[in-house]
Amino acid sequence: MKYDRIYNFSAGPSILPEEVLESVRDNLLNYEGSGMCVMEMSHRSKVFQKIIGEAEQDLRDLMNIPDNYKVLFIQGGATLQFAMIPMNLMKNGVACYVETGAWSKKAIAEAKKYGEVKVVASSKDKNYSYIPDCSNLDIPDNADYVYICENETIHGTTWQKLPDTKGKILVSDQSSMFLSRPCNVADYGLIYGGVQKNIGPAGMVIVIIREDLIRDPEELPAWVPTYCAFKTHSDNGSMYNTPNCWSIYVCGQVFKYLKKIGGLEVMDKMNIDKAKVMYDFLDQSKMFNGTVEKEFRSLMNIPFVTGDADLDAEVVAATKKAGFDNLKGHKSVGGLRASTYNAMPKEGVIALVEFLKKFEASYKK
Ligand SMILES: *Cc1c(COP(=O)(O)O)cnc(C)c1O
Repeated sequence: MKYDRIYNFSAGPSILPEEVLESVRDNLLNYEGSGMCVMEMSHRSKVFQKIIGEAEQDLRDLMNIPDNYKVLFIQGGATLQFAMIPMNLMKNGVACYVETGAWSKKAIAEAKKYGEVKVVASSKDKNYSYIPDCSNLDIPDNADYVYICENETIHGTTWQKLPDTKGKILVSDQSSMFLSRPCNVADYGLIYGGVQKNIGPAGMVIVIIREDLIRDPEELPAWVPTYCAFKTHSDNGSMYNTPNCWSIYVCGQVFKYLKKIGGLEVMDKMNIDKAKVMYDFLDQSKMFNGTVEKEFRSLMNIPFVTGDADLDAEVVAATKKAGFDNLKGHKSVGGLRASTYNAMPKEGVIALVEFLKKFEASYKK
């Protein structure tokens, strides 16, 4: 492959579009005639104001974000949102969470520090291999919001249909599926995603929040850190303090790239097509099995196992030797996991499947 790169199936930080990396490289020492690198410039400079302004507008275009939603670039990753969301959105101190895997579990544990958490549905009984039926949840009247993790990165499940929140605000962690398919923002009160899964360099989360949910700091408990109030970020255009300028810049380049290839409808088709190569293989293989119930399979994270931990380890080692990296599954699921994010080309998945087919054929002998 070009530049001796390999097929990187990492769950995050993960693969970025080559075209974007090339453009970043070409502009590294002198960004568009500014005489400096984006890493070196003031976040208050005109040049950077243009970078962040375009990044926000391009994201708004891609997702058709309605005018009454704010886009915030915040540090602390997706993990800080596990705390910021209850800190800001719990008015009555009660929230409903759906437990579908490792990341929703972490969000639940964190939210419990700030109020009462009601787990209204869970797929724990089958090691989080499906999304529970959420068409008639028991949601108390005083619940402040309903929380889901829309793509469980470790367990490899995706929601096909959003829960019936009975009129409550829906909050969604889209970290590992952000911009992988069209999304009707108006269905949500708040959407967020750590960018290092599907968008750009680590160290930033993008929060899309309906304006009326942003409360005045005076209404929040006095112990809420200034940085952790959404209003701090919305009032200051994500520049209350120095933002992650580099991540904003590279994410912005990825947004431009996505617009250029035709937007999220096109991306969705490509992702469906790509994941099908992998799932078709798993469905006919006698050696490898997918771990997720078919209708909830993620297009972004594909866990699979042989059923024998030693053999799994052997396959991981063999793939690494053959130029496919980061296929080891998370310890809670075991086996292997192929993350097939936006930037993974279909050829990468085809090459991996060819390799696994050969491995399986030679193993039987
Ligand atoms: C990776 C991940 C997180 C945590 O992201 P950080 O940016 O490392 O804090 C949260 N939720 C999901 C779904 C993830 O995949």
